Amino acid sequence: MARAPGSERQLLVVYTGGTLGMRSERGVLVPSPGLAAVLRTLPTFHDAECARALGLPDDTLVLPPASPGPRVIYTVLQCQPLLDSSDMTITEWVEIAQTIERYYEQYHGFVVIHGTDTMAFAASVLSFALENLHKPVILTGAQVPIYALWSDSRENLLGALLMAGQYVIPEVCLFIQNQLFRGNRVTKVDTRRFGAFSSPNLPPLATMDADVTVAQDLVRTANGKDALVVHSSMERNVGILRLYPGIPASLVRAFLQPPLKGVVMETFGSGNAPTKPDLLQELQAAAERGLIIVNCSHCLWGPVTPGYASGLAEAGASIVSGFDMTSEAALAKLSFVLGQPGLSLGHRKKLLGKDLRGEMTVPVADKHRSSLQGTVLGRSVAWLFGLSGGQEVAALRDAMLPSLALAAAHASDLKALQALMELDSDLCLEDCNGQTPLHVAARRGQEGVVTMLLHRGADVDARDQDGLSPLLLAVRGRHQGTIGLLRMAGACLTPQDLEDTGTELCRLASRADTKGLQAWWQAGADLEQPGYDGRSALQVAEAAGNLEVVALLRSLGVASPEALPST
Ligand code: ASP
Repeated sequence: MARAPGSERQLLVVYTGGTLGMRSERGVLVPSPGLAAVLRTLPTFHDAECARALGLPDDTLVLPPASPGPRVIYTVLQCQPLLDSSDMTITEWVEIAQTIERYYEQYHGFVVIHGTDTMAFAASVLSFALENLHKPVILTGAQVPIYALWSDSRENLLGALLMAGQYVIPEVCLFIQNQLFRGNRVTKVDTRRFGAFSSPNLPPLATMDADVTVAQDLVRTANGKDALVVHSSMERNVGILRLYPGIPASLVRAFLQPPLKGVVMETFGSGNAPTKPDLLQELQAAAERGLIIVNCSHCLWGPVTPGYASGLAEAGASIVSGFDMTSEAALAKLSFVLGQPGLSLGHRKKLLGKDLRGEMTVPVADKHRSSLQGTVLGRSVAWLFGLSGGQEVAALRDAMLPSLALAAAHASDLKALQALMELDSDLCLEDCNGQTPLHVAARRGQEGVVTMLLHRGADVDARDQDGLSPLLLAVRGRHQGTIGLLRMAGACLTPQDLEDTGTELCRLASRADTKGLQAWWQAGADLEQPGYDGRSALQVAEAAGNLEVVALLRSLGVASPEALPST
């Protein structure tokens, strides 16, 4: 649902500076205060009669009626100081995010007036700083001030106000010349044209002509349950290094020195770099220091592909593909991911490779396609990969991934499972009962699947809704190989797991179930634990004449109760 409900919508306009509100002083344009007062005098921006009728306070403006659609009422918050956007940094953008957080409950949406020069950086940073947005945040600006007779300011600001006021597009967007773009997909491409921005790898989310057309399948859907989270701890020590033919290794070395923690490396074509060994050495040395490199292309259109030239391929382990991200989005994402406290390097790289805010198109895993055609399950996975589109497709994938992953684990279909994990690299593939692929594989004793999952970092201690861990399921199934693998990966039984073990051990002893007893022993259970009647498994086995069990328990070091020291 894109159209906003209700008859009135309240917006906060955060005025940060930029050409839109600049005035000429001694021949140069400088950011100028008092924009709200000017807007009040312009009939397209303020309906004084309506404001009186509604009894609005003096600092509040109201747009003339636009039918159909709710009335847009707005307040301008002027930042201190007003800046040309060339002077904006992560600090100011985080402050904007915090302002939005402060007023989040009071307003239906937000418009940010910002200079166009660094607006793509600003929109990218805001998109990562604001997680779980349920309301529109629309940046706009202009190439010519609002005070000029011929200017793009009025249309851009009015369009941004109408989009934020009349549509529910819960994203950080940028509105310029009739088009609403996803903010982390744009880059400024023209110094003079009013259509100064391009969104090379994602079409506009909406277009305002005589009709407003919203590309509903591209608009991200807000997760109803999750509250807004503002990430203020963005890493400042990140940079962009644009490679050029013949770039000296010494220059790369100088650039990559600490305190730099992450760099967006702009490479040639589909991700290529010079293959000179000295340059490669510098990249490897930086990687060894823990510096993360995101590979983005000089080219505007198309992604970085994995088949890049040998130089970078050798340093590949340290380089994360930026796919089709703009450098602005990649820099903001690096800053966000590196700013998250307490993550391992591997986790940070995984996050960089994931689509977090619609900033990149994660490619279809083509390499898996042909190998998946052999089974029905494989074909379903291949079909899932082949889907492309916006939020609805992403939601469908998210909904289907856990079931397919569990089915793949159940069928020991390693190819399908591996392909699925590339779609969800953090392995949160649990079904509605909390079962993970590792649970399924452990229950069935599928050592190949267990090995692969553990190798990929699956949570060895995951509990399903009944509180069962993969280790407990492997014990129940008496799968000794699997128990061994899980134990090696650090799995152990908790006091809760061991609560009624004594009675269970006695039951196994009475049935001469040696495999069952061995499984508990291998999992780390104390085989001397008494059952509910105070007898141990050994006593039960002796009384039942199960000599094989007695021999086993003795060989596992279980002593007869009479031989135990009295307490
Ligand atoms: N220098 C101005 C700024 O980015 C240019 C603009 O707003 O278009 O603040």
